[in-house]
Amino acid sequence: MQITFWGVRGSYPVPGAATVRYGGQTSCVEARSANGGCLIIDAGTGLRGLGNKLLREATGPEHYHLLLSHVHWDHIQGLPFFSPAYVAGTKISIYALLTAADELHQVIGGITRHEFFPVPLEAVPAEFAYHQVEPGVDFTIGAFKIEPIALNHPFGSVGYRIEGDGSSWAYVADTAPFNEVLHKQHFLSGPEPLSDDDRVALGTMREALVRRIRNTDTVVYDTHFLPDEYTRFPHYGHSTPDQALEICAEANVKRLVLYHHAPSHGDDQMDQVAAQYLAKGAAMGIEVLTSFEGMTLPIGPTNDDGKPA
Ligand SMILES: [Zn+2]
Ligand SMILES: [Zn+2]
Repeated sequence: MQITFWGVRGSYPVPGAATVRYGGQTSCVEARSANGGCLIIDAGTGLRGLGNKLLREATGPEHYHLLLSHVHWDHIQGLPFFSPAYVAGTKISIYALLTAADELHQVIGGITRHEFFPVPLEAVPAEFAYHQVEPGVDFTIGAFKIEPIALNHPFGSVGYRIEGDGSSWAYVADTAPFNEVLHKQHFLSGPEPLSDDDRVALGTMREALVRRIRNTDTVVYDTHFLPDEYTRFPHYGHSTPDQALEICAEANVKRLVLYHHAPSHGDDQMDQVAAQYLAKGAAMGIEVLTSFEGMTLPIGPTNDDGKPA
């Protein structure tokens, strides 16, 4: 299996001279199994480039599988620009954490309403199917076994442990650390005091995350904030590289990939972050990589040429 990063930013796209090397597109990752099976995780603006590549490779209409962490803009904004959707006969299955499949249909249909976009969802040639995912309830897509993981984010988010070709990795975005209840918090209401039930729920969520990513080959984690930024914006629902390292150390994860970079972090600052956490991770026995647009990583054992074994 291998994964490729098509968008590594959080919040909003940041094209421009300051983001040439790490990239400015929002969240989107492609996973490939050895037999050619493909999974798409999140549909930020990085999805546009991936869609164009998939269309070039396709020999006819295909069936695409898209796992969404949640439906904040930076995770769905590429959907209307996914070029295979405009090929008749294409099927697109979307998996997301929502209370009902028709709610997901409304969300996806909502962003293409005629006020916002010239082609309404009903007029898109591809056939869409919606699947509700539930943390703790595993499912399979082709050669991939997928385990959804509840995360701590305003209005909820779900991570995925993805197993295939005898190895596994995990996608953990978006999430805050587990010392504040953010998943049910309204943005304007500010931090709410923790109840005993909240503490238990957060502890359970954290414990399940650590258990589910335990011993995975690679963990891609929401490390939007640097520590000083986190203290100013804890209610935004994102983590720092230090918080990700703590979780990975507990879960015996040997490779952490920093992901969902803050749009304000330009290439020079990202170089500093990458170097700082490469050293910090090495001291803990964890290889810390910093994702950039176009980065491809083999998951599991590799041959001498770096390709998946
Ligand atoms: Zn996000
Ligand atoms: Zn979000």
